[in-house]
Amino acid sequence: MADEKQSLLGAVIEGAAGLAGSYAATLTHLFRKPVTEQYPEYKRPMPARTRGRIILTRSPDGNERCVACYLCSGACPVNCISMQSEEGENGRRRAAWFRINFARCIYCGLCEEACPTLALQLTPEFAFCKDDIADFVYEKEQLLVDHGGKHPDYDFYAHAGVAAGTPKGSHIDEDEPVDVKSIMP
Ligand code: SF4
Ligand code: SF4
Repeated sequence: MADEKQSLLGAVIEGAAGLAGSYAATLTHLFRKPVTEQYPEYKRPMPARTRGRIILTRSPDGNERCVACYLCSGACPVNCISMQSEEGENGRRRAAWFRINFARCIYCGLCEEACPTLALQLTPEFAFCKDDIADFVYEKEQLLVDHGGKHPDYDFYAHAGVAAGTPKGSHIDEDEPVDVKSIMP
């Protein structure tokens, strides 16, 4: 009988201690500063490498970087990039039209990896919901920005197609070029 009373008392004390602990935790949180962030009034800054809305950037000279090489559309696993190439007034190849269907895009970033001119870049912008799914199809005019994005100083045309400065075959690891006419039958 004495043992039963003792174990009942122990259970009561244990229960009371548990209750006191939970109330103490509640009280502590009651006086803490709330950490709730009100969206969209407060937009949390996203890390610079967040993969969100895609843009087409420009070189420092203001020209379009995209040369319509189709590499991004070839790399895209869901086929949501399409374009048509043309020659611009300055003789540069560019996209006559360029289209991305953001309703299909999975923001994998493979197109950005594939782009040789750093034209196509994913940005941290993620809030561009639409009521109509057709509005997710972005045309070149909506994609093209007037800056260089993550690589403001990169100028593709300053490097591409520029001669190395030394004659062919003059490098220590390079053979002399062969005159194909000399080996004709
Ligand atoms: S992020 Fe991925 S899915 Fe979206 S356009 Fe680029 S390659 Fe395609
Ligand atoms: S965005 Fe880049 S990869 Fe895509 S077509 Fe233009 S230059 Fe080529």
